[in-house]
Amino acid sequence: MPRPIQARISHAALAHNLSVARRHAGEAFVWAVIKANAYGHGIGRGVAAFAAADGLAMLDLNEAVRCREAGWVKPILLLEGIFEAADLDVVERYGLSMTVHCAQQIDLLAARRLLRPVDVYLKMNSGMNRLGFKAEDYRAAWTRLRALPQVGAITLMTHFADADVAGGTDSARALFARTTQGLPGPRALANSAALLGVPEAIGDAVRPGIMLYGSSPFADRTAASLDLQPGMHLFSEIIGVQDLQPGDTVGYGSTFRAEAPMRIGIVACGYADGYPRHCGTGTPIAVAGQRTRTIGRVSMDMLAVDLTALPQTGIGSPVELWGTQVSIDEVAKAAGTIGYELMCAVAPRVPMVSV
Ligand code: PLP
Repeated sequence: MPRPIQARISHAALAHNLSVARRHAGEAFVWAVIKANAYGHGIGRGVAAFAAADGLAMLDLNEAVRCREAGWVKPILLLEGIFEAADLDVVERYGLSMTVHCAQQIDLLAARRLLRPVDVYLKMNSGMNRLGFKAEDYRAAWTRLRALPQVGAITLMTHFADADVAGGTDSARALFARTTQGLPGPRALANSAALLGVPEAIGDAVRPGIMLYGSSPFADRTAASLDLQPGMHLFSEIIGVQDLQPGDTVGYGSTFRAEAPMRIGIVACGYADGYPRHCGTGTPIAVAGQRTRTIGRVSMDMLAVDLTALPQTGIGSPVELWGTQVSIDEVAKAAGTIGYELMCAVAPRVPMVSV
């Protein structure tokens, strides 16, 4: 009998969320971002659910190859992933587009003979200071690239550090506009937060990620209010029940102490499954379709929930850790993190199924 835990991925929800992205994008080219194993949902599921996207964007070459092998024939954009000359062979063989974010990558291209030109997204560092050419070096990088027969279309690109806060893209957009003024080629700036919140940043191509999986990119707006549906539901069951008397404690460190008689349930899900240990007492969770709260510290394989107000529940009752009744963003907030981290961290030992 397998442990009663399962992550269910809703194809319909992912496809719906893509249609929301498409609605906001208007005429812009929509790259569905499926890096990190489609934000933990499975590359194959992303390929199937985002069939209506114009292209798929991801981080590494292995994922790109898996997409081609899964039958994806439309464009693929590598957001990173080119580190050495041999990587360009894969780019060429699988017909990939690549992001160029540093001079060493231009050197790699210049030194390589390619049978057909590769389309490039030339990345500008607009303030994140992660990857990309500084504004003062950007035009020279463009000129160098443009002179290479190995390079096809060049799209001008940046990635925002602060698209999730009001006005957060203003200075980055102004810098990008100044730097790219007069350069030909499409513009690509927007991640989910910019696509949903900064219409001026939509440009010619957009790169939504998190919204496609049904999580809100904003701390102060729920996914439901953005018409997004949860792509992942994490389910388990109650596997034990304890009756507590006042003064009884729960879990490691005895961080929770009952003040009145209580009934608690033990759920077959812990931090080794990817549920955050930082969720202390009070994190929302749903048992048999009703919201309640976690109690005490999350342990490796289990956590405790308050069943005092749910007398009809017991061993075998279904538990939704996140999904529809409890959003992944609520759990993330309780843990002091973001939905991205939770969905990417579901452990390999949790069976994942498509629904
Ligand atoms: N574009 C780039 C370059 C990224 O690195 C990412 C993700 O971090 C995205 C787009 C998608 O961002 P989000 O998941 O916030 O929509």
